[in-house]
Amino acid sequence: MEVNWRQIHAARNSYAALSAACGQEGFSLRPVDQPAPDVTCYSLNSLNEPYYRDEIAGADCITIVGGPHATACPREVAEYADYVIVGEGEFTLPRLLTQLESGGNGKIPGVATAYFSPPVTSTVRLDAYPAFSEKQGYVEITRGCPFACGYCQTPQIFGHCMRHRSIDAIARYANRYEHARFVSPNAFAYGSDGIHPRWEKIEALFKQLRNQIFFGTFPSEVRPEFVCAESLSLVNRYCTNTKLHFGVQSGSDPVLERLHRGHTADAGIRAVELCNEYSITPVVDFIVGFPFETDEDQLATVDLIEWVARYGKVHVHRFMPLPGTPLAGTTARSLLPETEKICGKLAVSGKLTGSWNDPAIRFFKTPFK
Ligand code: SF4
Repeated sequence: MEVNWRQIHAARNSYAALSAACGQEGFSLRPVDQPAPDVTCYSLNSLNEPYYRDEIAGADCITIVGGPHATACPREVAEYADYVIVGEGEFTLPRLLTQLESGGNGKIPGVATAYFSPPVTSTVRLDAYPAFSEKQGYVEITRGCPFACGYCQTPQIFGHCMRHRSIDAIARYANRYEHARFVSPNAFAYGSDGIHPRWEKIEALFKQLRNQIFFGTFPSEVRPEFVCAESLSLVNRYCTNTKLHFGVQSGSDPVLERLHRGHTADAGIRAVELCNEYSITPVVDFIVGFPFETDEDQLATVDLIEWVARYGKVHVHRFMPLPGTPLAGTTARSLLPETEKICGKLAVSGKLTGSWNDPAIRFFKTPFK
């Protein structure tokens, strides 16, 4: 059975991880730019999903769709795809392919179709699967998040309990290349429950890496309350990156509280100041346009954006209600003229990037591709 992987820029790390997992079961995922027989697999997020929907519906082959959008809206996706993978794909996708190859109907836990939807019964242990194989990817060191930020799909897909790849397994993959970059919802939470940091675990990991380490920066980030003397000393001692990426999201404490962010705006300010003390450039995420954001809340965020931009860089995104999140179905509020003006001015000066006026740019270089 020929199995293809529809190449989509936003899903390139999923391709690396899933082709390695499928390879273990004897399935090679051939990269394609259009659906092809016998089977074509897709991983879609909620922004690119509309772009691929017609292609999948008209495909002349078996189609399997996973990814954040499929997990959030399996019934909707099953209206046009043959099979929908709900949740983590490493275990379920090879199992489904094996079943289909032997003539089965694909009715296994975690696979939805227009006719059945048995619930997910498995959780992936990261060490049980390669981080990647021939196709290089970033090493995913942690999955799951104990927080429940109102706009975020991560805990809905991966759960609230953090699962970590072991230090030996991380080193085995990371040391293959000159640069080691990692995927994690909060890199400084490595080895911990996600609330109480375990700096000794991070240092033990760093000691096993023999290449240039990029930690707490693209493609992962950290939480502001984890930015402290211990974490910054570790970065300065072991890592190559001179930037640290973290989300503050709002300059308004009432907004942060309603989002269940679990930190205050002051925690963000303190993190920026500490970065400055340790000669690390902070790169800070903000979101504007939350549905419950008052004018005062938005102006507080804009003030904080301007202040952060003096010390580092800011990524500002327009709020987008993602399916499966607590804020699904809500509508972004409008931006104030001051917000547009200041974000525009900072963007022109090279201090600000992001999609404060077009959420689609958040996930794509070109919208919907
Ligand atoms: S935004 Fe970050 S901290 Fe909040 S739920 Fe998502 S992954 Fe967790």
